Amino acid sequence: MNKNQDNTCEDKKRILNILQRLSAFQQQDYDISSGRILGSMITKIHPIAKQAYMQFIETNIGDPGLCPGTKQMETDFIDFLLSMLHAPTQASGHIVSGGTEGNITAIWITKEITKKKEIIIPASAHFSFQKIASLMNIRVKTLPLTKSYVLDITNVKKSISKDTAAIVGIAGSTDLGTIDPIEELGEICADEHIFLHIDAAFGGFVIPYLKELGYPIGSFDFSIPGVSSISIDAHKMGQAPIPLGTLLLREQEWIETISVKSPCISIDKQAGFLGTRSGGSLAAGYTMIQYLGHQGFKEIIKRCMEATKYTAKRIEEIGLSLVLPPTMNLIAVRLQHPQKITHLLEQEKWKVNAMPHLQSIRIVCMPHVTPAVIDEFIPVLESVCKKEGEL
Ligand SMILES: *Cc1c(COP(=O)(O)O)cnc(C)c1O
Repeated sequence: MNKNQDNTCEDKKRILNILQRLSAFQQQDYDISSGRILGSMITKIHPIAKQAYMQFIETNIGDPGLCPGTKQMETDFIDFLLSMLHAPTQASGHIVSGGTEGNITAIWITKEITKKKEIIIPASAHFSFQKIASLMNIRVKTLPLTKSYVLDITNVKKSISKDTAAIVGIAGSTDLGTIDPIEELGEICADEHIFLHIDAAFGGFVIPYLKELGYPIGSFDFSIPGVSSISIDAHKMGQAPIPLGTLLLREQEWIETISVKSPCISIDKQAGFLGTRSGGSLAAGYTMIQYLGHQGFKEIIKRCMEATKYTAKRIEEIGLSLVLPPTMNLIAVRLQHPQKITHLLEQEKWKVNAMPHLQSIRIVCMPHVTPAVIDEFIPVLESVCKKEGEL
């Protein structure tokens, strides 16, 4: 007996009921299409990327013997990033779930290779380094920033000890979009034979195009000889769906240090932190780099920067000030009570992020944050700030 056929009507009702519940959950969420998510680093997903995601939803890139075609797509995707970031021929990459896993994996590799247990990070480093400290029993030395919120290079050399495995530089900080002096860090690390990991989770898809657009911005990629690895997220400015990040390594063989024998699947050894992982977001990310190409990304970055300048201008016009002139498409607005303001904006259905440690709120001008969206937002921000005595 085919139960489903007998109960077609019953079944339809059940499905309808589940779909209604899903919609109810979704209605509680902020919708990226509304444009009202201003503080996050995610953005709208292009319909062809959604299609690619669905097409590859049943693949497993953790078991490449099963899906050699998906594996080839992974290689092509990584090659695009390696070439964008001027990697040498012996470099390679590893798909990860995002910036957190990219950072974890990079430090894991340096720990395996050097057998040392200390890293040096700037105070602007992402909170994923706290996880690293706890997970891997790593001592983290945090260095102060300059007045421009980048790593103070004068302290770096004297903070290196015989236990130092790696130094971390940030190319596009999560809070302010600042870029550390990577060229100077590269020189120090090359001299001292220390790994230099660059966290470009947010900036990796932005900085190369800012340079092409003529912005006065420093280098951060493999063109600097001291740079060992780079973490770059496609699910932020690469406009791919979550989860998609990549860890790029100057030497292909380093990945061996975090590979284990994998007897029950189609490959001899599996590298990295995760096991089973879907090729869906990879297919979508691949689709975006093919569809946009370098020219397309450049145009999007250009538009995002124009939106950023527009937002900065509108914010200053109403009498608020910025923590820093924006380096990339990210703005921090100074406020006395950032959490209070964020809360009030939420009641008006606008989502920005409070950064109490910087007495500010963060607005990220992702591709969906257009001047038209900002025009709707500014009067709300102004009225909330007036009510709270910020203006
Ligand atoms: C977003 C971000 C991360 C964390 O990435 P996830 O994708 O959230 O894991 C790490 N570093 C920087 C600089 C980031 O902007």
